[in-house]
Amino acid sequence: MKKKRIVILSLILAAVIACLVVGIVLIFVDIGGHSHRFGDWKVVRAASCMEAGLEERSCKCGESEKRRIQRLGHRFGEDNVCTVCSKRLIPTEQLGYSLSADGKSYTVSLGLAKDAEEIVIPLYKDGIKVTAVSGFEGANMKSVFLPDGLETVALHAFDGCKKLESCSMSITTKEIANFAFMGCEKLKEIEIPPTATIGQYAFRGCSSLTSLNIPETVTSVGYGAFADCTALNEVVLGGGIKELPASMFENCTSLVYFNFVKVTAVGANAFKGCKSLKELVFYKDLTTLGATSFQDCAALSKITYSGTKSEWKAVTDRAAPDWLANIDPVKGNFRVYCSDGVVNRYNIEIDVG
Ligand SMILES: [Zn+2]
Ligand SMILES: [Zn+2]
Repeated sequence: MKKKRIVILSLILAAVIACLVVGIVLIFVDIGGHSHRFGDWKVVRAASCMEAGLEERSCKCGESEKRRIQRLGHRFGEDNVCTVCSKRLIPTEQLGYSLSADGKSYTVSLGLAKDAEEIVIPLYKDGIKVTAVSGFEGANMKSVFLPDGLETVALHAFDGCKKLESCSMSITTKEIANFAFMGCEKLKEIEIPPTATIGQYAFRGCSSLTSLNIPETVTSVGYGAFADCTALNEVVLGGGIKELPASMFENCTSLVYFNFVKVTAVGANAFKGCKSLKELVFYKDLTTLGATSFQDCAALSKITYSGTKSEWKAVTDRAAPDWLANIDPVKGNFRVYCSDGVVNRYNIEIDVG
């Protein structure tokens, strides 16, 4: 009888100690690496026609995060004046306008404006809406203003405009067609509109572009879209593009870091020749690494993967056998940081201290 009581008492004591330990651990977890519980987003700076806004949310621990609010875009009336901010478009003279078959819209092109340094496209011409821009290939202008409301940047529209330094995009663009800005080697920045599809080689060889922000709502991008953008060193993928097409960033030699938010597949040659690429962040969504997708990425040394070692092994077992072609396995100190340990290129666990 006495023995039974001792057993019960020890069990209670053990339970009390266990509760205390768990409690203390929880307190430490909460102070240290807890997972933040953020409140609602609050606007820090409101967006306007042309300027993006900013909003912020914070956790009780003082940590906060910020995100961009898409600019609102102008609302031009038939007089080409914005009803919100009163900006007036003064269209470049002698542009070419071709009326659609149904007579309801215009496509604008360079026409006789060959000497203009600045091209301003109106949204309305004689009360008819301009919906597309086309045929400025190889033209000499330094800047282009595409009015919000315009929908299409046609095939080869600005292909080879080697002097073009700035292009104000229409926020309502639905299509940036194949080769649209290919070889615009002085173009410094580009706003990717939230509802656009991006065509094949659309920005290939834009060798002055340094940063790229692809909004979450963009879901379609074509083959080689940003290939040979040799100055590109900051890319933010919004997460809408699940499968990166073949050659998407091929030969982007200034890229150092890449975060594959929500990417499930990396196409063939997608990062081939990105010789400065050091660090990648992959998530468990990843299933496919295409042929020679990271060939010649000789600087690649750190991969962070949100899954386990065995999940990573499954990814590499399925990957094209040459996804890391021409990367010297002896010279590089290639490490994959999984959630439960670190492995080398051959999926052998290593102790990194
Ligand atoms: Zn927190
Ligand atoms: Zn405006």
